[in-house]
Formats: sequence, C-alpha cells, structure tokens
Amino acid sequence: MATVAFFAPAAAGHVNPTLGLAAELVRRGHRVTYATTKTYAERVAATGAEVVPVTSTWEGRDVETPQMHGKELARAMNMVLTETKSMLAQLSDADKPDLVVHDGTMCWWGRILAVRWQVPAVETWPNFVGNEHWSMAQKYTTFNPLSPRFLLMAVRISRFLQKEGAGAMDGFMRGDGAALRLVALPRAFQYAGDTFTDRYEFVGPLFADRTDQGDWEPSGDLPVALVSLGTAYNDRPDFYRTVLQSAADRPWQVVLAIGTVDAGVLGAVPPNVEVHRQVPQLAVLRHAKAFVTHAGMGSTMESLHFGVPMVAVPQMAEQRANADRIAELGLGTVLAPDRITADPLWTAVERVADDEHVRERLAWMRGEMTAAGGVPAAADAVERTLGRPG
Ligand code: UDP
Repeated sequence: MATVAFFAPAAAGHVNPTLGLAAELVRRGHRVTYATTKTYAERVAATGAEVVPVTSTWEGRDVETPQMHGKELARAMNMVLTETKSMLAQLSDADKPDLVVHDGTMCWWGRILAVRWQVPAVETWPNFVGNEHWSMAQKYTTFNPLSPRFLLMAVRISRFLQKEGAGAMDGFMRGDGAALRLVALPRAFQYAGDTFTDRYEFVGPLFADRTDQGDWEPSGDLPVALVSLGTAYNDRPDFYRTVLQSAADRPWQVVLAIGTVDAGVLGAVPPNVEVHRQVPQLAVLRHAKAFVTHAGMGSTMESLHFGVPMVAVPQMAEQRANADRIAELGLGTVLAPDRITADPLWTAVERVADDEHVRERLAWMRGEMTAAGGVPAAADAVERTLGRPG
C-alpha cells in the first residue's frame, strides 16, 4: 500500500477529471490524500480519499476569471502564483507521500511539493497537451512576450522557482520533471496525437461517480437539449436570453444551466425550458440528443462519452481549440459566440441531432475512448510509477 497525495486547482474542470483515479487508487488499497477546498470536499470525500482542507485565494472573490493569454496573461499568472504561495504555506506540514498526482495545467504547488519531497509526480492533464508539432500558442493563445507586465511576472516567477529549487521557468511550466502525464482525452481527440510519445499516456476521461449531484429524468417524450457554458466563463446573460428565445415553441425539452447569473434578468421562460444554476450534467447528458456547450474539455468528453452531438459556443482560447477539434472530427459544429442569434442556434441544434455522419463519428470516438482505458489504465500507470525516483 502506498500513500498518494492529490493536488488540483479549486475549479470543477480540474477537480472532476481526477476523481475517478482517486477512487480507483483507494479501491486498490492505497492511502489517498486530496488537498481541496470546502466547495469540492464532499465529492472528494466520496472517492474514499482523505480530504486535506485548504482554502483558495480564488474562491469568494468577485472577479471575472482571466483569459489565460493576451493582455490578461500576466494577471492570470499572478493569480496562480498567489494561489501557489498560499497553498504551499497551508501545506507546509503535510506528510511526505510516496507519489504526487497533480493537475498539470495550473497546479504549480503540486509540482513544487513533489520536488521538495523528491517523490515522483504524475500529472493529470484535463486539456490538450502541447509539443513542437502542436501547441495552443501556435494558433489560440497569443501574447506579447516583450510586454513589460509579462516580463515582470516572468522575473517574479523565475525568482520564486529558483528559491524553491524547482528549476527554470520553461521546463517547470511544461512539467518536464514529471514521471508521467496522464492526458484525460483519447489520443484520437488530441491534435497531432501521434507525435506525443515519451511520458504521455492518453487514458481518456477519468469519470467518477457523480450521484451526489442528484438525478434527472426527462418529463416527457420530447428530445432533450442541454445548454451550459460550464463553471468559469459563464456570466453571459445575453447568451441565455438568446437561448430562451431560440428554444421557445420548439418540440424539444431544454435544460439550461446559467451558473451564477440571476435568473430574474432573463425575462420570461418558455414552458419547454427549465432553468437551473447547476445541473447534474452526466444525468442530463444520458438523455440528451444535443448539447449546446462552451466546449470545456470536461464537458466535451462527457458529451462524447454519451454520444451526444455538440453545438460548441466557446468562450475562451482553450475552448476554441476544443470546439475546432469537435468540428474537424465531425462530432458537432461550432458557432461564433459573439454572433449567435435565435434561429440559427436552433437550426444548428437540429442539424447536428439529425446528422447521420455525426452519429457515425460519435460512435467511432466512443470506441476510441473505450480503447484509451480510462480509470483502470490511469491507476495501472500510477502503480507502475510508484517506487521510481522523484
Ligand atoms: N458541470 C455540472 N453541472 C453544471 C455545469 C458544469 O456538473 O451545471 C460540470 C461538468 O459536468 C464538468 C465540469 O462541471 O465536469 C465543467 O468542466 P469543463 O471542463 O467542461 O468546463 P469549465 O467549467 O472548467 O469551464
């Protein structure tokens, strides 16, 4: 039996994709600890992991989530640096585990703790990974590397990493020190998937039991459409109003998740639409014939798992990359989010729901996801890594 310590940023799109792995490692007899905030404590505890309570500098703040590139990159990096320092201070007394599993995208503290403890790190990547053949920066995430704000941040981060003995910034950000990267998508979905070899395992999504979110059943025989912009870039009342207008009088049962937006500002809700802040997404997707989605990678994988065609309305760079891949692989379609109007939106919903080619491609992708191995493959990979030098 080994002790495995999990770390992930306080964000559903980063915590959810790790839960299945945590649960499987517990099931196999390992001791799993998981540092997380109150928001995620219940669902983490449901995996059988021991919750290590931490607070996040991101929660309870009334600030819009920054874009991870362009002018907002420096602010985003500053937020991650502040969070990292806070987490390291809170976790300074944590016991040394045999292995660290941490989110590869933003969880710098997991990476630093693995270095401090000199134990192997397995990274979970809930998004596309990059290399010299394909990277987000080539097309989707632009920024000016000479901007004074970015340069200042880079100096601050480099100094911090030096103090921590965590190496140079470039290699640190890529996770070069990781023993293994578990990518939570099938290789067929990754751009330039065949070019990722060394230390990448495309295990597909790592789903966990989500019954704590409650169940959902359709109220009749109408086809079901789920509409959600996820949990981060979802403060879009105009979009939700367009959805209500678009869905009115259609022969569809529409489930609309609006996040933190006040339902009162949306106006009249047509009888065939139910509006929620949050929905048990897996339970709804199980019945859905179409998913109008921001194309967060978590939601994309969940949709593909249930073979639900997507109308993607991406809200930020990574989601644009996901949405383009959905369209390129014939798994749905993309609409430009700033030009969405009522009629074309539902035309797109009906088109993807009726499209035989999309149905075939979804079946193909489901096969790829099954072949990727999911949770058992990820747990096997972690067990193979145990005992390797850190
Ligand atoms: N989610 C949910 N109910 C909602 C909205 C989101 O259960 O009403 C879950 C969804 O199933 C997914 C996660 O929250 O697992 C969102 O992750 P994703 O990567 O799709 O997007 P993000 O929220 O990080 O932008």
